[in-house]
Amino acid sequence: MTPAIEIRNLRYRYHDGTEALRGVSLRIQPDECVGLLGPNGSGKSTLLLHLNGILPEEGPPEGTVLVFGRPVVPENLPLIRRQVGLLFQDPDDQLFCPTVADDVAFGPQQLGLPEPEIRARVQRALAAVSLEALADRPTHHLSHGEKRRACLAGLLAYEPALLVLDEPTSGLDPRGRREFKSLLRRLPGTKLIATHDLELVVELCPRCILLDEGRVVADGSTVELLNNEPLMLAHGLERPHILLHTHPHPSHVEPRTA
Ligand code: ADP
Repeated sequence: MTPAIEIRNLRYRYHDGTEALRGVSLRIQPDECVGLLGPNGSGKSTLLLHLNGILPEEGPPEGTVLVFGRPVVPENLPLIRRQVGLLFQDPDDQLFCPTVADDVAFGPQQLGLPEPEIRARVQRALAAVSLEALADRPTHHLSHGEKRRACLAGLLAYEPALLVLDEPTSGLDPRGRREFKSLLRRLPGTKLIATHDLELVVELCPRCILLDEGRVVADGSTVELLNNEPLMLAHGLERPHILLHTHPHPSHVEPRTA
């Protein structure tokens, strides 16, 4: 099967010389939901920005990035951007139309869909994120959580096959996080989620990839990775408490007493 994402030996250096990616290789199959973990500055956002060709800013990448088998190179970007829905870390970088409904309609309009189809998609996307009541609200009058949901509705409206999410639950309150996770769980398609929210990862992502200093340092089952305390601590993370209840490590199981 053609992987949804295939990256081979990807390197990226910012203009100031910072080496953000130092030879990343990974492969994600269609319909997988994969967590991308790593301390701040490990290269997660830089990696995600390569998946719809925001980076590199000019020319082809150094290394190979394929989305559904198609190289992410300048001549393929119009097609690639129809397949990849990238949720930015900061919703203010994503929302730019006067109202929520306008913003959500932008993607389907770019696809050149007929007006009734656009309206239907906007309705569906707003309903999926429970924002119907705020359709006519100016986007700058939304709360942070509502902005995130509006951004996600904007992606859903053009039905991308691959969702790439950068810290989707940061800044959300517990109820906002819960609702966001339940929404993600219901969405079809391939998902790659960069996050520090290890609960989200345990609940939604059977597999995780751990980045540090621009390299993949681990790739495998979420439960195994997160239960590996030395690995987690070595890369600025910690073993989440939720695992104690759902998937206890053998060394943490209390001996039975008679
Ligand atoms: P993460 O998403 O894991 O926090 P980033 O991809 O944002 O990591 O950053 C990777 C490295 O690239 C870090 O050292 C960061 O300081 C650097 N970096 C990120 N954006 C820029 C930029 N625009 N210019 C220069 N360096 C950057």
